[in-house]
Amino acid sequence: MSKAAPLLAGEICSFCGACVSVCPLRCIDIGEDYPVFDSEKCTECGLCSRVCPILNMNFFREELPVLEAYSARTTLPEVKERGQDGGVVTTLLLAMFEKGYVRGAIVSSLSESEPLKPMPLLAKSKEDILASAGTKYSSSPNLSVLREAKINDAIAVVGVPCQIRAIRLIENAKLKKYANSIKLRIGLFCMENYAYRTYVDELLSKFLGVNPSDVNKANIKAGKFIVYLKNGEVKKVPVHNLKDFVRASCKLCPDLTAEYADISVGGIGSEKGWSTVLIRTEIGKDVFDKAVDMGYLEVKPLSEKGRKLIVKLSSIKKKNAKKPNMSLKY
Ligand SMILES: Cc1cc2nc3c(=O)[nH]c(=O)nc-3n(C[C@H](O)[C@H](O)[C@H](O)COP(=O)(O)OP(=O)(O)OC[C@H]3O[C@@H](n4cnc5c(N)ncnc54)[C@H](O)[C@@H]3O)c2cc1C
Ligand code: SF4
Ligand code: SF4
Ligand code: SF4
Repeated sequence: MSKAAPLLAGEICSFCGACVSVCPLRCIDIGEDYPVFDSEKCTECGLCSRVCPILNMNFFREELPVLEAYSARTTLPEVKERGQDGGVVTTLLLAMFEKGYVRGAIVSSLSESEPLKPMPLLAKSKEDILASAGTKYSSSPNLSVLREAKINDAIAVVGVPCQIRAIRLIENAKLKKYANSIKLRIGLFCMENYAYRTYVDELLSKFLGVNPSDVNKANIKAGKFIVYLKNGEVKKVPVHNLKDFVRASCKLCPDLTAEYADISVGGIGSEKGWSTVLIRTEIGKDVFDKAVDMGYLEVKPLSEKGRKLIVKLSSIKKKNAKKPNMSLKY
């Protein structure tokens, strides 16, 4: 077997985008739902495999501890309108921009030409951050835009748990250009995800009978996948009925709460309109405290009921994750 094994993740690739950014020869680019690879240029250096969060699913043994846990929501009216839950992620990014703590943020915006298609973006303005608020329920290869970061840039990265794991693998591989640039890692809770084509063609169009262009917002609450249409109609379906559409990577994934992030944010455990916030590092604590001091976030302790639910769902996800049978040897 080739030691470089580019795109080794194959069918179980989560489309995190990390391999695209780290390839020194630019052999890898983003395709429709998977990376595409130009084998002619590849020197088999192995970097892409080293940072792949799927091939290195169990690289980090212990999750980062939770130092503090809250329910929080934004006080900023422009974020309230657009945020998925409590708008905490967007608020933290805006606050850090304002303080000059970061000068860029990797987020997921929307394509202008294809409905609901996530587009990774290295946002350099508060307007771009605001416009990227809200969850896109298909894979957004956010880390592919890391390659746009300059040496010693100060950037925040927002990503689902596999993307945060990839960031830690990049740091672990001592890829200094990137490792030195990343100041903050915000992880999103994630139970599962869908490939874009599967999401719009199979799940929305065929299964739910919804035209993707008519969708205003989607959310998952209390085990239901809920689609809000622009005409006011609402469609609800139990999430377990959508199992056939889930990305293969997600069936192997043991991480619900972005266990390696500075701050993990999700909806589980908090009331409607609030986000659950798990602070895992001193960097995360500092950033969160700053946003609270600025008056941008309303905060209360995470309820015991919320905490128990997160622990329960987290362990269900770990139990369901079937470990891929692979070993990477160099
Ligand atoms: C695919 C997916 C599945 C999720 N599943 C769950 C779940 O099962 N349970 C749960 O509690 N929470 C889940 N979440 C998290 C939840 O939907 C919210 O993102 C989270 O609660 C933060 O809400 P907020 O209002 O603070 O974020 P906002 O202020 O709205 O900011 C959301 C941020 O997420 C970024 N983003 C949006 N879509 C994507 C994407 N596809 N990939 C990477 N970044 C993206 C945006 O650019 C923005 O920066 C999921 C998120 C995603 C993307
Ligand atoms: S092995 Fe090295 S050169 Fe080949 S695709 Fe991967 S990162 Fe690029
Ligand atoms: S999971 Fe990420 S790093 Fe691995 S092959 Fe897919 S896009 Fe590349
Ligand atoms: S379930 Fe895991 S592999 Fe799938 S998108 Fe979420 S974090 Fe990535």
